[in-house]
Amino acid sequence: MIEVTRRYVMKFPPDSADKALTYKLIKDYDIKFSILKAEVRPGRTGSLLLELEALPENIQKGIEYLEANAVICEPLGKKIKFEASKCINCGNCTGVCFTGALTMDRERWKLNFEPELCVVCELCVPACPMNLFDINFHEEEPEKIAVGN
Ligand code: SF4
Ligand code: SF4
Repeated sequence: MIEVTRRYVMKFPPDSADKALTYKLIKDYDIKFSILKAEVRPGRTGSLLLELEALPENIQKGIEYLEANAVICEPLGKKIKFEASKCINCGNCTGVCFTGALTMDRERWKLNFEPELCVVCELCVPACPMNLFDINFHEEEPEKIAVGN
């Protein structure tokens, strides 16, 4: 089976720092990971944007392990709300999106949005004149976040 890459926003409870949870991902589930963004404050819930690379079933087992240890794991796409139906295809957001998550289809002059390429830099939020992006990496209550696109 082929290894895949997945991005998740993970919220670690304040008391989880000493559990070496991420070490277990590598050791027991053979998951390679990169930290794309982090917000960790002492005594508070820590948020990490992680890119995981492994066999799909190993990623699934790793996520289940983390969730059993009170870590909230959400696929990145669920953290991004984008009101595609209101887009006027002006292209402004593509000028700031350095990862290629936002690109213009130049034949149809239509915006393409690929959430899996997003690293939650939030640069597109002020760039959009229609205010169509809502990216809540910091949000404490994930159930309030709408699924994007
Ligand atoms: S937050 Fe916006 S600008 Fe930044 S990578 Fe994601 S889609 Fe691109
Ligand atoms: S800046 Fe806003 S309106 Fe313009 S293409 Fe991007 S999402 Fe659409």
